[in-house]
Amino acid sequence: MKITFLDLQRQYDQIHKEIDVAINRVLNKQYFILGNELSLFEKNFAKYLNSKYCVGVGSGTDGLILALRSLGIGKGDEVITQANSFIATTLAITEVGAKPILVDVDEHTYQIDIEQVESKITKRTKAILPVHLYGAPCDISAIIEIAQKHHLLVIEDACQSHGAKYKGKQTGTFGDVGVFSFYPGKNLGAYGDGGAVCTDSLETYRKLLSLRNYGQSKKYFHDEIGVNSRLDEIQAAVLNVKLKYIESWNKRRNNMATAYKKHLKYVGVQKISKDSFSNYHIFIIRSKKRDIIATHLLNNGVQTLIHYPVPIHLQKCYQNLGYKRGDFPVSEKLSSEILSIPLYSELTKDEVKSISSLINDSAV
Ligand SMILES: *Cc1c(COP(=O)(O)O)cnc(C)c1O
Repeated sequence: MKITFLDLQRQYDQIHKEIDVAINRVLNKQYFILGNELSLFEKNFAKYLNSKYCVGVGSGTDGLILALRSLGIGKGDEVITQANSFIATTLAITEVGAKPILVDVDEHTYQIDIEQVESKITKRTKAILPVHLYGAPCDISAIIEIAQKHHLLVIEDACQSHGAKYKGKQTGTFGDVGVFSFYPGKNLGAYGDGGAVCTDSLETYRKLLSLRNYGQSKKYFHDEIGVNSRLDEIQAAVLNVKLKYIESWNKRRNNMATAYKKHLKYVGVQKISKDSFSNYHIFIIRSKKRDIIATHLLNNGVQTLIHYPVPIHLQKCYQNLGYKRGDFPVSEKLSSEILSIPLYSELTKDEVKSISSLINDSAV
């Protein structure tokens, strides 16, 4: 058996005719930046999310940075986020000169621990930046409530949660802005880097359009200091094709997650809260025997990963934040017990069964 953690080839095999047509359309036009493909994708993605506006950018990380900047967050400001996430969440906060204030995650959902958020609010707090981790919605309505009570902004890191919904509403559309990544391995992935920011605010939308394009209002007239971060035409063309499939792909992933949960015997799994639809971007199992399970899987040709092996507060690059081991016990414990196993919409039922058996054999 040989099962890689992610197998994009299988997806490409299904849709290669449409993808090749889409890419060739761009090649034949020889127009690569800020053209029709991007406008169409921005319209399509906004419609899919039921958001008013969408702005395509160079990556999810850039999306987070520009989202923060578009809301005026920068030097001297504090942004509350979680200790268990991909590093890009906090990289964006520090990149704009703000300070990440970390809280732990919940023992069962692995999402930002709502109980801890309010106690971290100070005079300098400007925003809460929750992550819909592993593609499952966090308790976003509770976050919005806290934010409204304290007049804070909310930036949703929806970089893993394309199509995930809370009470039927798309993740990324609850806060002031929602940020998506189209890194190839995400549920909606481009064939290179890419990202998008969505918002219902016309003012924020205009700001984002300017910031991503050198801060220019008119060609060669620069009203503010912007950057170059645009979703290019080839990526937008690819995403226009893939967007048509995201709902069915996410459904398949859900079926597979259900099958895993049925087969798996001795390991924990992420609790998906009531009223939530996860896109199962990453399927996590949890066990004290994590390393034994991973080795057994690898020896049998199944590749796994760990998301993430080092919590944010223990990363070397953030030594200056002044945190220490023991500050966020749940995140720390998770980092030593969680394992991400293969789950993608092209995985077969038999593969899910075989992987589950290997896990059961080594976790008992
Ligand atoms: C992927 C990801 C990002 C960053 O996206 P890039 O497109 O890789 O820059 C940010 N936050 C989370 C939680 C992610 O998973």
